[in-house]
Amino acid sequence: MADVKVLAVQPITESDAQIKAAIDEAHLPSLIAALVHVTGDAGLVQGEIKPVYDFFGDGQGGLTPEQIASTKARALAALKTYRDAGSKLPQQPSRDTVRKMMNFVAGADIPERYVPFLEEELALDGVDPKAVHGLDEIPQSRKKDFRVLVIGAGMSGLLAAIRLKQAGIAYTVVDKNKDVGGTWMVNTYPGCRVDNPNHLYSYSFEPNHDWPYHFSTQPLLWEYFRKVADKYGLRQNIRFQTEVIESEYDELHALWKTRVHTADGKEETLVSNAVITAVGQLSRPRLPDIKGIETFKGKTFHSATWDHSIDLKGKRVASIGTGASAFQFVPEIAPEVKQLYVFQRTAPWLGPTPNYHDTVGDGIKWLLKHVPFYAKWYRFWLFWMLTDGIYEFVKADPKWDKRKDSVGEQNDMLRQMLTDYTVGQLEGRPELQAAATPDYPPGGKRSVRDNGVWLGALKRPNVETVTDPIVEITPTGLKTKSGRAIDVDVIIYGTGFTASQFLEPMKFKGKGGVDLHQQWDGDARAYLGVTVPNFPNLFMMYGPNTNIVVNGSIIFFSECEVRYIQGLLELLLKSGGGAIEVKKSVHDAFNVKVDASNAQMAWGSPNVTSWYKNKKGRVSQNWPWPLVDYWTATRAPNPAEFEVRAPAGAKVAAQ
Ligand code: NAP
Repeated sequence: MADVKVLAVQPITESDAQIKAAIDEAHLPSLIAALVHVTGDAGLVQGEIKPVYDFFGDGQGGLTPEQIASTKARALAALKTYRDAGSKLPQQPSRDTVRKMMNFVAGADIPERYVPFLEEELALDGVDPKAVHGLDEIPQSRKKDFRVLVIGAGMSGLLAAIRLKQAGIAYTVVDKNKDVGGTWMVNTYPGCRVDNPNHLYSYSFEPNHDWPYHFSTQPLLWEYFRKVADKYGLRQNIRFQTEVIESEYDELHALWKTRVHTADGKEETLVSNAVITAVGQLSRPRLPDIKGIETFKGKTFHSATWDHSIDLKGKRVASIGTGASAFQFVPEIAPEVKQLYVFQRTAPWLGPTPNYHDTVGDGIKWLLKHVPFYAKWYRFWLFWMLTDGIYEFVKADPKWDKRKDSVGEQNDMLRQMLTDYTVGQLEGRPELQAAATPDYPPGGKRSVRDNGVWLGALKRPNVETVTDPIVEITPTGLKTKSGRAIDVDVIIYGTGFTASQFLEPMKFKGKGGVDLHQQWDGDARAYLGVTVPNFPNLFMMYGPNTNIVVNGSIIFFSECEVRYIQGLLELLLKSGGGAIEVKKSVHDAFNVKVDASNAQMAWGSPNVTSWYKNKKGRVSQNWPWPLVDYWTATRAPNPAEFEVRAPAGAKVAAQ
């Protein structure tokens, strides 16, 4: 497989004025790091200017106005010189200098154990660092009869397909939908957009310097994934409108036999050596368990199956739920409807994000495309800022007993800061101030990015926030605990997904006919979210305990998972074995550690109920540690943790 080069920069040919205008939009710590590459002057990151980690600041690392002015002047001079010399770069910085540049841009003293992880994320050599080369070194004769079935053509499934194709492994993808994109195809509710900055929320090897927004809308995300599917030529291997019913492991031949409903309404069995599930955690809408829900005579729909044929204009609408989906659609529909009742059981924590709906300026796009390494450092900054930089703020102090709505000193600082932010937007509305202030620790649930539109909507005269619990749905509306009857024309359920019912409604039968859902008994577990004992050659992406609350993007996890799965396939194919299975002792010991660590995070607090906890109360969704630990654990599988068997059952050693 050829190394995949990431986007190269274009030479600078623009005028001084154009360069200056672009610099005015720059993220300056990233620009200064880029200037080290452009000028060869390592002193730029060792002088007086020292950005700080400013999660809630203006994003410029706390630089003073004088420092901002001098940096811009210096950048202009450097880029002019670079342009006039034909856009040629001097000798590139040493590893030691790059290490200093990391601290500089992050505004933090990055611990040594993070360095290889962040070096890979930076990928300064322009090579796709997560592309695995072990599989393509295996002779084609060994690979030719090996086939993988990927379930799901969303972000993770496409990624699996890209990597399998690059490795020369035959694969088929099935998806119940009509097109690729998964959640980004299905969720079309008004206001749907990503809540991770797009310059981070994109495949590491497929950056897009033309994102129109910092946080792009659903159609743009869907377009990105469609384009990726086209660019990598994946479509001919994808079978759309093909839904998996059941997959059964044939132990004798080490094969998975997967029964699917096909687009033409028939059933078919697909045979493969391995199965990768990439169905997401948030794909099956959940309706609330409210008495009388089926009796309502008006219109209803769930946020994930938005009924665009229903005109909400002039209607009385009830919206149930105030999670990330409702948070986005409520401000969109509020101006349209006659009256909106927002039924809130738990208030969301709002994370101040002034640029949440902003377009990306032309200057930024220019910098990303023209200034060598600017895009790299900008992504690096976002990565650090939004990943392990914030982790300590959501960690629980076991001795903390001051309040129930925080879990430690740092978490309490965050609580106070976010409370001030919310309350400050609701001057003169004490009832809303009380309703909108969460009573659980920040980080307990995913906070929502806010630029003021949410509380702006709740303040509208035609919007009422109802905190009185719903006890019943009637043919004409809703009844609350206090006995109030609210009649409406439409009920919208922003009530989330059956997230902890992993892989349902599909059925998987493993070794000895063991049923996966019976084995899990409502408490899904896996080793590193990927493998489960008794289910050889079944690999999950976005499986149990691989979700993140505050730190990072799911794309990062998927890239780690698929590399790990490739490593497992490599072990299998190199050994000549037919089946690879995680040892139960390894799986069990890992899960004990996961549970102990999740209990020490805000989302593990007993004062939080969320979709991260399953019906047994266990946090089955979230990864409890910093991202660096997932990266380290999944770089390559440890052969000692797996059993590799020949199809007929005779053991062969993993190599
Ligand atoms: P969610 O976070 O699970 O929110 C469901 C909401 O419905 C909660 O407010 C919940 O209240 C409420 N609810 C459930 N049953 C109820 C009942 N019987 N009565 C009253 N309220 C009830 O679902 P979501 O908003 O669809 O978001 C799910 C996840 O999807 C997010 O956490 C995020 O990871 C992802 N997401 C991301 C984006 C983005 O990137 N921009 C957008 C949307 C979703 P409680 O909190 O009290 O349970």
